[in-house]
Amino acid sequence: MNAVPSDQVQALVNERTLDPWRVHPQAGDLFHEHDEPIQGKLAKEIAAAKIPELRVLSANGAKALYSRDQADVPDMMKAVMFRSMPDVVVQPFSAEAIQGVMRFAAGKQVSILVRGAGSSPFGGSMPVTGGIVVDMNAMDRILDFDPQAATVKVQAGIRWADLEWFLEKKGLAVRSLPSSRFSTVGGWVAAGGIGIGSVSAGRLINSVLAVDIVTSKGELRTVTPEDKLFAPLFGSEGQVAVIATVTLKVRAKPSTTFPRIVFFDDLPSAMDYSIGLATADKKPMDLTYYSPAKFKAFNKVMHRDDFPVAHGILVTYENRNDPAVDIVPVPPSAKVAPPYLSHLMANERFFPMKFRKLGPGLMGSEVLAPKANLSRIVGKALEMCERHNIEPMLEVHFLDNGDGMLLCYYITDQTRQLKYTMDSFRGLLISKALYDEGAKPYSFGVWNHSFVDHADPHEAEELASAKRELDPQDIMNRGKGARLSGKFGGLPATLFSPAVMGSALRLVNKLGRVSASGINMIASGGLMVREDDDVLLDAADECAMCGACVGVCPAYLLTKDERVTARGKLLTARWMSNGMAISEEHAHLTFLCMRCKACEQVCQSKLSLVPLYEEIEKRLAEKHGRDDEQVRRFIETAEHSAYYDALVDRGLVLGAAGKDIEGGR
Ligand SMILES: Cc1cc2nc3c(=O)[nH]c(=O)nc-3n(C[C@H](O)[C@H](O)[C@H](O)COP(=O)(O)OP(=O)(O)OC[C@H]3O[C@@H](n4cnc5c(N)ncnc54)[C@H](O)[C@@H]3O)c2cc1C
Ligand code: SF4
Ligand code: SF4
Repeated sequence: MNAVPSDQVQALVNERTLDPWRVHPQAGDLFHEHDEPIQGKLAKEIAAAKIPELRVLSANGAKALYSRDQADVPDMMKAVMFRSMPDVVVQPFSAEAIQGVMRFAAGKQVSILVRGAGSSPFGGSMPVTGGIVVDMNAMDRILDFDPQAATVKVQAGIRWADLEWFLEKKGLAVRSLPSSRFSTVGGWVAAGGIGIGSVSAGRLINSVLAVDIVTSKGELRTVTPEDKLFAPLFGSEGQVAVIATVTLKVRAKPSTTFPRIVFFDDLPSAMDYSIGLATADKKPMDLTYYSPAKFKAFNKVMHRDDFPVAHGILVTYENRNDPAVDIVPVPPSAKVAPPYLSHLMANERFFPMKFRKLGPGLMGSEVLAPKANLSRIVGKALEMCERHNIEPMLEVHFLDNGDGMLLCYYITDQTRQLKYTMDSFRGLLISKALYDEGAKPYSFGVWNHSFVDHADPHEAEELASAKRELDPQDIMNRGKGARLSGKFGGLPATLFSPAVMGSALRLVNKLGRVSASGINMIASGGLMVREDDDVLLDAADECAMCGACVGVCPAYLLTKDERVTARGKLLTARWMSNGMAISEEHAHLTFLCMRCKACEQVCQSKLSLVPLYEEIEKRLAEKHGRDDEQVRRFIETAEHSAYYDALVDRGLVLGAAGKDIEGGR
């Protein structure tokens, strides 16, 4: 593929600092062309308030996308316990628009759920009491950039991958990022900010200079590290305020990246080695531990056999000046993987959902493990998985102080809802066992509510105090956090409370293998198995619903309606099979596809998506017809947008006919 000339790229980069809708009036026209009539009381009221720079989405098909996130809460629990369907979804384009929404919501005492990319699992970005979802994806601009000071100010809805791309052109890079680089900057602030680069840069909080927030009273405030409200924003999970902008420290782009996997036969040696490197003066950029079962799964899913099945640490150094000097220290008891395997793993860090195919389905527990108990906590995770007869695909992402974020993944089967539910329960049992060994929660969402008593008391009080100050009416992410709620008022809170669920989990764990065998027996039963043999449903089950495909989809970037994306289309397929009515407008959005295959390139589950689109479109066209002229016009406009040019520049566009890049527009 021809490269875009560099001056043109520079112009495109500069354009991202402006309002894309003003720069591309055609895109603005298209954006509104596909809006549907406003439906529902609350939606009509907020639309009538005529808040500037705000889009209102109210059709069922549009809202349903926001009633779940990555890794679904088991159907039977969700349906019984939560009101996950929002009353209305709004997309603000500016902090002022958010202020308008907050004043409206506070006046009506309606709950606000802020949503970034929706990449957190198990209800992290799903409402539990309906209300208003504030979708931050239209706030994706770079507002200010100071190359001398190496700082950048962004709207909170920008995705890490887009920011990386912008910085790369300037010879700069972010200091750390989540392996879900498709998630939003604001979302990672709210999630806690541990990921790739956390060994060298620490948690995200160390890289943030200021955050603009909108409180539930509609005030816009700038919060800096000196402010007592600053720390509680990190990991606040949308409970205290809407994060509108973030000012980040950035760094020079590394000249080289040098990953190596160092293998050990035993866990304690692997942990000691990692903690030693994480706390050394010259730290690696990143340090991640993988369990033997994880390497076994890599071999299986990638049809290879060259990953040793052992305890492996992926150590990544940067800016290696002398290629002859091996800067990764290797103790005599360890072995080093060849460079090609190390580079492969360094890339695979960004695709942790790939293993879903083996189910289809992936579950996981996620805890913070202090370095003093790290080896014991990881050992406990291995023991619990063995007890439950599941392959422990463990990862530990290290921090600069030697603590680690432990992810304990295992395969489940989403086509068997009973097994899926029992496997979720196993996840809770494993988490509880890890907390009882001294682990701390990283994030709560809905699923980890039973462990709120394990939170650091000082951090919990800081968060509660920030909530009292910024959201006294308790409209932010209402029903989550300290007090879970849902359809039946206090029932979910009681059921999932540390006193009820927490104690029950501890008891079941105490019963050891007896309870594990009981759970195994129920999980392996033949109840609630999906029997329909449908290629679309199979794909929907393999899809991680992670949203990686959303931010690279040119049709989405122009419409900001997720129904045009792979995630949206696979959900549409699932809804069709469940008998949900798909409107004509909804069907039409599904046809707006350029076949550019950007979605396939970034797909976490490595799905072959375009043939699935053909099938979905065929089924919808049979029912609703298809306006080919409208589709053609859309594609033509999309191909002439700066967003599309940017995707071409990033090498993401593979399939579309496209235009002559060198020849310009
Ligand atoms: C493949 C994959 C890899 C991942 N790797 C990591 C990782 O390395 N580290 C990690 O921490 N997580 C990881 N995650 C989980 C998740 O992607 C991250 O936590 C991510 O940063 C969440 O951002 P988001 O934009 O998707 O937010 P969402 O999932 O939409 O929201 C997350 C929470 O933040 C709140 N929120 C979102 N935006 C705002 C805002 N602007 N203001 C206030 N509150 C807001 C939401 O209400 C919700 O409570 C991974 C997930 C996947 C699928
Ligand atoms: S092929 Fe391109 S336009 Fe179609 S869904 Fe994938 S990314 Fe979007
Ligand atoms: S289609 Fe692929 S990238 Fe998109 S949500 Fe599903 S797994 Fe993620």
